[in-house]
Amino acid sequence: MYKISATVSFAAAHNLRGYEGACEQLHGHNWLVKATLATEKLNTVGIAYDFKKLKQKLNDIIDRFDHQFLNQIPPFDQQLNPTSENLAHYIFTELAKKLPPHIQVFSIEVGESHKYTATYQP
Ligand SMILES: [Zn+2]
Repeated sequence: MYKISATVSFAAAHNLRGYEGACEQLHGHNWLVKATLATEKLNTVGIAYDFKKLKQKLNDIIDRFDHQFLNQIPPFDQQLNPTSENLAHYIFTELAKKLPPHIQVFSIEVGESHKYTATYQP
């Protein structure tokens, strides 16, 4: 199996509903999103999946979050909190829809900084 990864970033604010602590208050992060793809075969050039295409598909997903208040954007505008974990799951699902069948999303890691990350991997 081959795995490749690409990382993109966006800036956005959020607050965590029901969290007892500072994160219940409005605050922002420079979010990091690392996507890892897996495939059994390489193309004729010898690559698993084009990094540029992966970056573009990730940016297509996160562009609507950039410089926004995440709690006002679906699916985080109701009860689902915009936590790193929920963002990772959402981005995983959306990215999987955009890839050819032989390319699997292996995991999505979302970080509020380099120090704190959450990973969704089925
Ligand atoms: Zn936060």
